[in-house]
Amino acid sequence: MQKAEMIARRSLLQGSVAAPLAVAGRGGSRQPAPGSGFREQKTRLVEGPQVKRDFTKDGRSRRVVFAAHCMLNQNARHVDCADFPAMMKPMLTALQAKEIGVIQLPCPELMALGLGRDRDVPPLETIREALELPEAHARLMPYVDQVVYQIREYLFQGFRVLGILGKNGSPSCGVETTFYSSGQGPGEGVFVRLLKERLKAEGLDIGIKGIEDHRQQEAIEWLLKRV
Ligand code: SF4
Repeated sequence: MQKAEMIARRSLLQGSVAAPLAVAGRGGSRQPAPGSGFREQKTRLVEGPQVKRDFTKDGRSRRVVFAAHCMLNQNARHVDCADFPAMMKPMLTALQAKEIGVIQLPCPELMALGLGRDRDVPPLETIREALELPEAHARLMPYVDQVVYQIREYLFQGFRVLGILGKNGSPSCGVETTFYSSGQGPGEGVFVRLLKERLKAEGLDIGIKGIEDHRQQEAIEWLLKRV
């Protein structure tokens, strides 16, 4: 399918909640900027009656970590970018050995731009640029809210949230390194930045570490120090 056809198809799908975000141009309709309407949604999500329960009397470890989606599912990756058939085994083996529950983060690129996303999203140049559009932020912020909501729930009920594992080098999930139009470099991915901003605004101090596909040991050691 030609790129122009793909863009037109995405535009047709834009009305559907489940459809990938159309990124056909900078002149299209705009969603509320971060910091305006999002705050109302956050308030609805994190407030409400809560009952504190005793979770110490069954078999659960009461330890959890949030992990980049593709750590457990490489199928979400950009075409030609999956380094493993399914999972990042060394990290997941370490998590299993320490009985740490894994909460899979959403794949921001999949949820905003689709599984068949392009690296150069015309008329933009990169996935990063597409994710910085207000429409993309509007698509991603509910996922940020859902992550923060879960963190609050686990903490309130006395669980240990050991950290958040991003994926270094990603324009979306990078923590120490990310991807720019000029290539890989120091910095954060868009989703990680939005998540960190929200965590800070909520006063939540949760450690965040990026994992490397072929150098997972550093992130494993970081996490194990927190167990
Ligand atoms: S790094 Fe993030 S955006 Fe990229 S495939 Fe993994 S979860 Fe999706």
